[in-house]
Amino acid sequence: MALFPPTPSLQADIAVIGGSGLYDPGFFEDTVEVKLYTPYGEPSDYIVVGRVGERRVAFLPRHGRGHRVPPHRINYRANIWALKSLGVKWVIAVSAVGSLREDYRPGDLVVPDQFIDMTKNREYTFFDGPVVAHVSMADPFCEDLRVRLVETAQRLGYHVHPRGTYVCIEGPRFSTRAESRIWKDVFKADIIGMTLVPEVNLACEAQMCYATLALVTDYDVWAERPVTAEEVAQVMKENTEKAKKVLYEIIPKLPAEPAGERCSCCRSLETALL
Ligand SMILES: [Zn+2]
Repeated sequence: MALFPPTPSLQADIAVIGGSGLYDPGFFEDTVEVKLYTPYGEPSDYIVVGRVGERRVAFLPRHGRGHRVPPHRINYRANIWALKSLGVKWVIAVSAVGSLREDYRPGDLVVPDQFIDMTKNREYTFFDGPVVAHVSMADPFCEDLRVRLVETAQRLGYHVHPRGTYVCIEGPRFSTRAESRIWKDVFKADIIGMTLVPEVNLACEAQMCYATLALVTDYDVWAERPVTAEEVAQVMKENTEKAKKVLYEIIPKLPAEPAGERCSCCRSLETALL
């Protein structure tokens, strides 16, 4: 179904961007599948718009259903533009990550508060000129949404790390052992993945509240602890169930509008435009 611009009934307050393993939240009601086109091309897949309690929600699988789009080929600008065009104010990004620390164990949840960008060749901004913007990334995530995610995961009894530095690599290959030791011992990063950047900074440019729920799948190669694909698949399956429970709990409790007291995400461009 091609619907553009979206009709009022297809507005959403909250978006969930699903990572590896999460292709269908499974608990949205009154769902409609929307195919959107943007000035940057097509998003990763059609977007499911529905309802959870009083909240209108949109779901977009970052890699497309069936995991068709690799991290370096994701059209991040189209994804964020499409969600913004639905009226989304909150973005909960779910992401599978590797661990760079002994105490961030497979099966743990992490709500990162910082990132290090080691990507190489992506489209990082909506502002390619003539309008120029330099958004602040000092605190790249919405603190309000971060705290809500941590508290929700804690209430559910999950082992959640309330902070962490996410190093984002280009992929699609994994790190060498030498690289992995640099991320761990020199950069002091805590988790590693391939999809946070530029999703997080584009959401900031779009003035949306964005936070990541990272799911630890395995230890990165620094640990020299080989795991089988079967073990990883089992952890991912359990993590996906945890993520769904966190989403099911947090979504109906989020205010329709960010309060603007605990974060300034919706005003990110006030001091950014030249
Ligand atoms: Zn915010």
